[in-house]
Amino acid sequence: MSSTVNTSPKTFRVKSFGCQMNVYDGERMAELLAAEGMSAAGEGDDADLVVLNTCHIREKATEKVYSDIGRLRRKDGSAPLIAVAGCVAQAEGEEIMTRAPSVKVVVGPQSYHRLPEMVAEAASGKRATETDMPAEAKFAALPKRRKSAPTAFLTVQEGCDKFCTYCVVPYTRGAEISRPFADLVEEAKLLVAGGAREITLLGQNVNAWQGEDDKGRSIGLDGLARTLAADPDLKRIRYTTSHPNDMTDGLIAAHGELEKLMPFLHLPVQAGSDRVLKAMNRSHTADSYLKLLDRIRAARPDIALSGDFIVGFPGETDAEFEATLRLVDAVGYAQAFSFKYSPRPGTPAATMPDHVPAPVMDERLQRLQAALNRDQLAFNQASLGKTCQVLVERRGKHPGQWLGKSPWLQSVHFVGESEIGQMVTVKLVEAGPNSLAGQLI
Ligand code: SAM
Ligand code: SF4
Repeated sequence: MSSTVNTSPKTFRVKSFGCQMNVYDGERMAELLAAEGMSAAGEGDDADLVVLNTCHIREKATEKVYSDIGRLRRKDGSAPLIAVAGCVAQAEGEEIMTRAPSVKVVVGPQSYHRLPEMVAEAASGKRATETDMPAEAKFAALPKRRKSAPTAFLTVQEGCDKFCTYCVVPYTRGAEISRPFADLVEEAKLLVAGGAREITLLGQNVNAWQGEDDKGRSIGLDGLARTLAADPDLKRIRYTTSHPNDMTDGLIAAHGELEKLMPFLHLPVQAGSDRVLKAMNRSHTADSYLKLLDRIRAARPDIALSGDFIVGFPGETDAEFEATLRLVDAVGYAQAFSFKYSPRPGTPAATMPDHVPAPVMDERLQRLQAALNRDQLAFNQASLGKTCQVLVERRGKHPGQWLGKSPWLQSVHFVGESEIGQMVTVKLVEAGPNSLAGQLI
């Protein structure tokens, strides 16, 4: 029999799965634990506390949590104190407690500010669960941001009211809320003071963010971006993920006017067939999406587009899938994410008729990904010869090599004198499917 750590943990590890918002939440949890005097376990070292910050978006992601829990062992064979956070905790809290007796803490995405006290409770022998959804209390209770990598995430909006019929997010993250303007300006300032040169504003529907500026005027995400851009030490602003229906005229115009707003937009479409889009409750058509892209490209002709796709939504026919391929051809994405439909318990699509057989989904996903990979390579090749700025994020594998991102979110490597956090100018001289080589100018 193996034992479990049941004294107050001194070291911790936070493992985040899934979306960028989980990465942000994971960072905030680490800051919270550090503020309590715990230290992050070094690479390869045992941790007294392991926080699994989970993702519930697809079935595979959920199953991974249970297999991870089973495998968590310290070098002496004992189990660390295990906390499950994130969307699986929210959706399956009770089930986790029954299925995995080694889990001592279950904490939902809106309650993780309570993690330290729950860990203390668990260390004293009691299991602790918290999955309430009190929208903004969490942010107020988190410690102030201090150090930052050159690229930082800043959650500005949480939750979703769109209820796409396949998606668990409205149930696990709750209703849409926008964090207040003043809090975001302050957090951005602290991130920049801590070393951030690029901030990515995050939200499940980030472009639905709304707030009041310091003069009481109501503003949208473009207004927030304009305010943040006034900080001379902040060089770049990005935002993700956007919903096509919340792409306002103001935000589109900002892409043409605001130099610090990077020419990259992740705008998921999901499918190319209007019948499927309606069954998904997406509230846009293929045509309205393409027209929207025309307006965005008119404002910022070099914008790189990215998207999300689901193949094999219940009832999707071969002809309807072909419509997705036609849409991909029409857009020419710079990058994209594509998934097989995964039925999620409690969502309307899970009980729709005519689920698509797994081999058909496999084949559709392969064809879609071949088209998306072709377009990604073509986009990178079309960048050859361009001169652009790269924000240096880390050292590369080879001596003297550095890695960073182009304005279009392409990974760029180059060799030369540089340092992390620097903006350098490079000429793009070689293009592969996933990265480009640059020459320092
Ligand atoms: N709010 C964003 C939007 O509407 O585009 C994205 C939210 S979700 C975290 C990211 C992506 O996961 C979605 O765009 C969708 O492509 C995919 N996804 C969500 N539910 C899914 C499901 N049940 N099966 C397969 N993919 C799913
Ligand atoms: Fe999920 Fe749709 Fe909301 Fe995106 S917009 S989080 S896909 S319900």
